[in-house]
Amino acid sequence: MSDHAGRITRARKAMTDAGVDFLLLSVGTDLPYLTGYEAMPSERLTMAIIPLEGTASLVVPELEAPRVEVDPEVCSVLAWGEHERPVDLVGAMVAGASRVAIGDHTWSRFLLALQQRVSEIRFVPASTITAPLRLVKDDTEIALLSAAGAAADRVAARLADQRFSGRTERNLARFIADALVEEGHDTAAFTIVASGPNGASPHHEPTDRVIETGDTVVLDFGGRIGGYCSDTTRTFSVGESPTEVAATYAVLRMAQQAGFEAVRPGVAAESIDAATRRVLDDAGYGRHFIHRTGHGIGLEVHEDPYLIAGNRRPLERGMAFSVEPGVYVPGRFGMRIEDIVVVTTDGGRRLNESSRELVAVG
Ligand code: ZN
Ligand code: ZN
Ligand code: ZN
Repeated sequence: MSDHAGRITRARKAMTDAGVDFLLLSVGTDLPYLTGYEAMPSERLTMAIIPLEGTASLVVPELEAPRVEVDPEVCSVLAWGEHERPVDLVGAMVAGASRVAIGDHTWSRFLLALQQRVSEIRFVPASTITAPLRLVKDDTEIALLSAAGAAADRVAARLADQRFSGRTERNLARFIADALVEEGHDTAAFTIVASGPNGASPHHEPTDRVIETGDTVVLDFGGRIGGYCSDTTRTFSVGESPTEVAATYAVLRMAQQAGFEAVRPGVAAESIDAATRRVLDDAGYGRHFIHRTGHGIGLEVHEDPYLIAGNRRPLERGMAFSVEPGVYVPGRFGMRIEDIVVVTTDGGRRLNESSRELVAVG
């Protein structure tokens, strides 16, 4: 059985348990997870109709049918012509059902039209079916996450040889985007270059600020391989790092290590957050760590499980998430260390292994 067929079998089991008759998926990552096909976000409806039994159908606009590659074992393709009404097509297929799960990212124009067509059906979010499946990665997914992580590490290694001073943040961001693809990603997804005081903003957008000697620079970047994301952060020092920055970084490094070492099956997701936070709190940096410790990663850069106080969900073998504590001192500097970690049978395995030192660059 292919990966996709196996995932659909598991989805059907969850549908049975939840009393759901059909799973409808359009734009978003549940569709590629189950079928390998990603819908184009468009006013022309693409939708997979997955019944409890029998073959699934993928309803696509006729003009997009040539780009569809799906395993025929998984679903059959139903192309609709420019003058047809695809919502009527879907409506006819699900008519008579009582409960239907529909993709969380489906556009409301399609859901509202469908609700009008089949008013007796109760719609529930598809994530109630798919999220528990996607939370634990299978071997194919872990292989893709590992490949993406290794490609991101090669970018980090190349950055250590770059000259930073005199370049703008935007210029360095372009270098990173190109390097992500050169090192094996299908596409670059994001490039955060946050230099000097900009480093205190964790999701800073690169600007025309010129990087100068004495800056601490936070680089957070990732791309996609086969749909799966990389996401790593390394912090660089342009020239010798000021004593205060070096001392703060030493604590951050211990916090990230503590978070990694806390990973094992059975512990609560929030305990990883507590482990990093304890080190930073004890050293007096707690108020400068202004975000959760990490997020799950897979087909989306941010997905379950979130490593944050209050998330008591126990970690399981095969879960993948970032461990990324940071310290942000407003108006002055920021720093973060981020690795993707996969839960193993007795601990965690890092998918990022580039140097975690505060790397000095020119
Ligand atoms: Zn982030
Ligand atoms: Zn990141
Ligand atoms: Zn991240």
